[in-house]
Amino acid sequence: MKVLKFGGTSVANAKNIALVKNIVANSKATKNIVVVSALGGVTDLLLNTATLASAQDNTYKNSLKEIEERHLNTIKELIPVLQQSKVLSKVKSELNTLETLLEGAYLIGEITPKLSDKIVSYGELLSSYIISEYFIAEKLNCSYKDSREVIKTNSNFGKAIVDFKVTNTNCKEFFTAVPEQIIVMAGFIASSISGDSTTLGRGGSDYTAAIIASAIDAELLEIWTDVSGMYTANPRIVKQAMPIPHISYEEAMELSHFGAKVLYPPTIQPVLAKGISIVIKNTFDAENEGTLITKNKNEQGKTVRGISHVEHIALLSLEGPGMVGIPGISKRFFEVLSQANISVVLITQASSEHSICVGVSDNDALKAVEIVNEAFEYEISLGKIKPVIAEQDLAIIALVGDNMKRHQGLSGKMFSTLGKNNVNIRAIAQGASERNISAVIVKDDVKKALNTLHEEFFEDNTKQLNLFVMGVGNVGTKFLNQIQQQRKFLKENLKLNIRVIGVSNSRTMVFDEDGINLKSWDEKLKGGEKADKQKFFENIQKLNYRNSIFVDNTASAAVSETYASYLKNSISVVTCNKIACSSEYNNYKHLKDLARQYNAPFLFETNVGAGLPIIDTLKNLIASGDKILKIQAVLSGSLNFLFNNFNDQSTFHDIVKQAQEQGYTEPDPKIDLSGIDVMRKILILARESGNKIDIEEIANKPFLPEESLATTNNEDFFASLIKHEAGFQKMYKEANDTGSKLKYVAQYENGKASVGLQHIPKGHDFYNLEGSDNIVLFYTERYPNQPMIIKGAGAGADVTASGIFADIIRIGNF
Ligand code: ADP
Ligand code: ASP
Ligand code: MG
Repeated sequence: MKVLKFGGTSVANAKNIALVKNIVANSKATKNIVVVSALGGVTDLLLNTATLASAQDNTYKNSLKEIEERHLNTIKELIPVLQQSKVLSKVKSELNTLETLLEGAYLIGEITPKLSDKIVSYGELLSSYIISEYFIAEKLNCSYKDSREVIKTNSNFGKAIVDFKVTNTNCKEFFTAVPEQIIVMAGFIASSISGDSTTLGRGGSDYTAAIIASAIDAELLEIWTDVSGMYTANPRIVKQAMPIPHISYEEAMELSHFGAKVLYPPTIQPVLAKGISIVIKNTFDAENEGTLITKNKNEQGKTVRGISHVEHIALLSLEGPGMVGIPGISKRFFEVLSQANISVVLITQASSEHSICVGVSDNDALKAVEIVNEAFEYEISLGKIKPVIAEQDLAIIALVGDNMKRHQGLSGKMFSTLGKNNVNIRAIAQGASERNISAVIVKDDVKKALNTLHEEFFEDNTKQLNLFVMGVGNVGTKFLNQIQQQRKFLKENLKLNIRVIGVSNSRTMVFDEDGINLKSWDEKLKGGEKADKQKFFENIQKLNYRNSIFVDNTASAAVSETYASYLKNSISVVTCNKIACSSEYNNYKHLKDLARQYNAPFLFETNVGAGLPIIDTLKNLIASGDKILKIQAVLSGSLNFLFNNFNDQSTFHDIVKQAQEQGYTEPDPKIDLSGIDVMRKILILARESGNKIDIEEIANKPFLPEESLATTNNEDFFASLIKHEAGFQKMYKEANDTGSKLKYVAQYENGKASVGLQHIPKGHDFYNLEGSDNIVLFYTERYPNQPMIIKGAGAGADVTASGIFADIIRIGNF
């Protein structure tokens, strides 16, 4: 004999029920007890309808209508027309009774737990009846049995306690005698000795199936649901979670107790006692092996088996200076809670005995505070104990595994992983069995915590990086292309899994938690919502992913002003925008400090020399104990282009025009020609070398005539270049006459920085600098005479994008 239980999603509609039929028809067992849930969502609907009716809200009738239609449509789709009328009339008559019950609640304006159970029992009553009739219509050797006739409970409505003695006898008698091969029954519902309908607690159909399996010594209990087994974490929250092929009763129990909803916690107890195995399988992927739950302990396998979590937890702390001296405090504390039927999900006690802290359901929190404060009124009045308060909106996350006790340092690893990702831990508990370590955290951190822990304990060190990209112009577009090309390589070789979750330009923005398809991000962006910097940030904050990175590919001052908010939320910032790092020193310093404080890297390699590893090298030199003595550099691709092409055969005006047309200069070429851009770059290098310096302190002897500098538009600017051509030619000739070339050089030495045009003689490292290349010479204590040189293309969208990419990978390896 075998018991097969099908959950709400598995029987949600006619299409799914047909799958259920195939599974049952293929079963090889001689007798199959099929336990079913209500059609998916119907239990919630019934409860809502009852609440509306008892609040004398007329709209309960609409919900009732919805319930009726769901069932009647299912019958019409499943059962051949000729056989429908009997089933329809029986179901309609049940629905009429349901309507009368709801009318009663409406008229009285109240609903008792007893009436609630009666109403909610219709979910399973109807589903099981319809399914049995469908099986019969499909010529399966099948009969129907009302669960309330066999499963007996006390009258604790809502979560009744099973009378196993009576129930076991009933089951044995009935199932031995029943001739059919398939018996369909309702899960979740039972009846009291006096005959009232009762229920076994939400999710209780699993329990019904286990009770029957145990009573009849079934060979196997199959739980058919909408996922392929018990996963390493809730697969709806952790995308990388995977099914656990084999798990022990104890582990499964612990995981379900801490929220793995796939199995209702009391389910294991009855089958464990008999050593009956459970398989959890997917109705929608019947071939999948699923999870096997048996008594075999997992003592060799993986240390951590799964991670689960319970939401809606409140923490009550009983503490006070006088606690140590008062005997029996904890006994009284727990007694008060237990008398009020408040179950304690987690307990921690400081070894100093100065405080006891318990986790209870949010729903019970206010009541718990009231009764505990009442019970300790006297001690509170003497100041020995502080009045208890409840901290709400918390959650428990738990690591579970039989094998955990054999390994040291797991809790350390768990807590440091959470800490590194800025998940604050409110309390910690470790079960005496050492099969579980739990932590209480803020509800909003659950997703981040689960994913972080999952990555740490299950993902073979693959690290997920979640990117939010603002600015998809030249650089941004190249950047997204590069990620798309490299994703697979990074995953396989560097164990980095990059997902772009948000993209924005100045017009629109889009988010996709599964990762935006990088082949069609532009299409998606066109249809996105209106761009809004603040909303973009708030969305990222709300998503609360660990390893979130904000990438700024804009040149906008307003965007650079948002970095602090990101860093304060432990969201890393990678930018090619120079504004923040070249703004006033205090702002730069503030951002660097935030990055350190919140463990969120702030990287801007592309601020100097595009993709060349200049800042990173500088940082490494300093971190390894070297000292920067002098930096000499050509840092402007545009100026290098100008002076490489300008000579006595051309005019300065024409070369600048050409540079502008070819995109080597900013749209306003004066930003490059005035030296501002180079000043910003040497400023950043000076700061990264450890110097507190501001842009005003950088000496800049401009080569442009004052008149050109004073122009306010490009037209006047270019006109002034023509006017001063003679001066530019003179500049060229002076250099050329000495065999030198003109280069725009930035320099930093002894805390002072300067920029300006210089004559570079043959043989100098700068002399042969081509095209728009950049070069940096680092003179340091370790490289005092022969500087360390970094040279290469220092401008262009492609290399800038690859520099941003390199920063992302640095964070991945952080
Ligand atoms: P049913 O209606 O079949 O009883 P439930 O909704 O009660 O199904 O349970 C299945 C759901 O449990 C899954 O869809 C999943 O969202 C959730 N779940 C939570 N934790 C886990 C886990 N560790 N493994 C599998 N499923 C889980
Ligand atoms: N239908 C009930 C519920 O939704 C029982 C079950 O599905 O297990 O809680
Ligand atoms: Mg369930």
